[in-house]
Amino acid sequence: MGKMELQSFNADLHVHGLYSGAVSKDMKPDVIAKQAKLKGLHIVGTGDILHEKWLSMFKDCCKWNPDIGMFEHENGVKFLLQTEVEDASRAHHLLYFPDISKVLEVKQALKGKCKNFESDGRPKLHVLGHELVDVCKTAGCLLGFAHAFTPYTGLLALYNSYKESYGDGWRFIKFLELGLSADTDMADHVSELHELTFLSNSDAHSPWPNKLGREFNVLKMAEPSFKEFKACIERKNQRRVALNIGLDPREGKYHKTRCRKCLTFYDPETALKLNWRCPLCGGIIKKGVDYRIKELSDLEQARHPSHRPPYLHIIPLSEIIALAIGTKSVFTNTVQSLWFKLVKTFNTEINVLLNAPIEEISKVHENVGLFVQHFREGKIQYIPGGAGVYGKLIPPGKEQELENVKVFNQPVENFKQENKNKIKALKHKNQKRLTDF
Ligand SMILES: [Zn+2]
Ligand SMILES: [Zn+2]
Repeated sequence: MGKMELQSFNADLHVHGLYSGAVSKDMKPDVIAKQAKLKGLHIVGTGDILHEKWLSMFKDCCKWNPDIGMFEHENGVKFLLQTEVEDASRAHHLLYFPDISKVLEVKQALKGKCKNFESDGRPKLHVLGHELVDVCKTAGCLLGFAHAFTPYTGLLALYNSYKESYGDGWRFIKFLELGLSADTDMADHVSELHELTFLSNSDAHSPWPNKLGREFNVLKMAEPSFKEFKACIERKNQRRVALNIGLDPREGKYHKTRCRKCLTFYDPETALKLNWRCPLCGGIIKKGVDYRIKELSDLEQARHPSHRPPYLHIIPLSEIIALAIGTKSVFTNTVQSLWFKLVKTFNTEINVLLNAPIEEISKVHENVGLFVQHFREGKIQYIPGGAGVYGKLIPPGKEQELENVKVFNQPVENFKQENKNKIKALKHKNQKRLTDF
């Protein structure tokens, strides 16, 4: 690895294929490659590469290039061998492989630890983090944890330190994925994470441009290859993740602490006092990523290590277009045709979002130009997401909607006193569910 000039590559390194649960039937290698090109991504994770049929779909539609350790589509998009796995504690991990032979080797090594590799693209393994370290080390793969803080399956939702999961093998772990509900400023409140490289990936379950590439990384490397990517993760020879790009965490599904049933927001201390039970409807209050990070953090203020790149917040272009023309869905014909027109004019969606001059965008559609400007100037606000519901974009002029959000903001004791009978009734009504948290 020498003095070759470094270039920037846009890389979204966590997706799922059509054999994974709750994934769009359009999620096929060929469609992903074409959509990635329009988005402006140079490299995409294959997703689900331990799944036999999925691997053979790649063999059918792409060329394997052994020199770089990646699949190549005829349109130039490269695919890094990648999968997500679920371990015995339900934590999700990301794996990157240097070669197809290593994919098969890992599969062989985990054979007795998985009921069926072919039943789901994201295999459930009867192993814990430290056992995965052993397997990945032997095969020369990269291992880290996916959507680090997300409830249910984020490793740091389940453990208080990644060192608890990976045991003695923790030094082998060089990266974590932030997930949609967190960003660098949030994660760098936890000093044990400072030594890790952060990845921002879409975890896309559909190839359409509001999902694929909604988060990605700008990699600085000499060429797109597994070796160069590994150097980025290890931050060697100037190779690095130069920029993390993704949604504002407020758009993420698990950002804030919120009632699953009536969607009322709670400040976490109040939720704790209420024993995570909503006194308004009896529903379960789901802890948000913002609060989980507060629990884990040992720093009052985020402190960024010197190697940490900036994090740039974006909004998928189709969501901006939908806002600009005042429709709710990004899948209407008007939104779709405007999206295509803009991407054709400026080459890629990423160019439209970040580089194209506003006056040029306005020539295609005046209001879309205005809304891209709002986005670039940070004027779009959010009703934050939580309890599994995505956040909502609030453009200038619609601020009133922010006032309509349900927030529980009364002292718990007073509320309990005043509503004694009502709470009793709710408890009764929800009796069966009192055990399920
Ligand atoms: Zn996952
Ligand atoms: Zn509720």
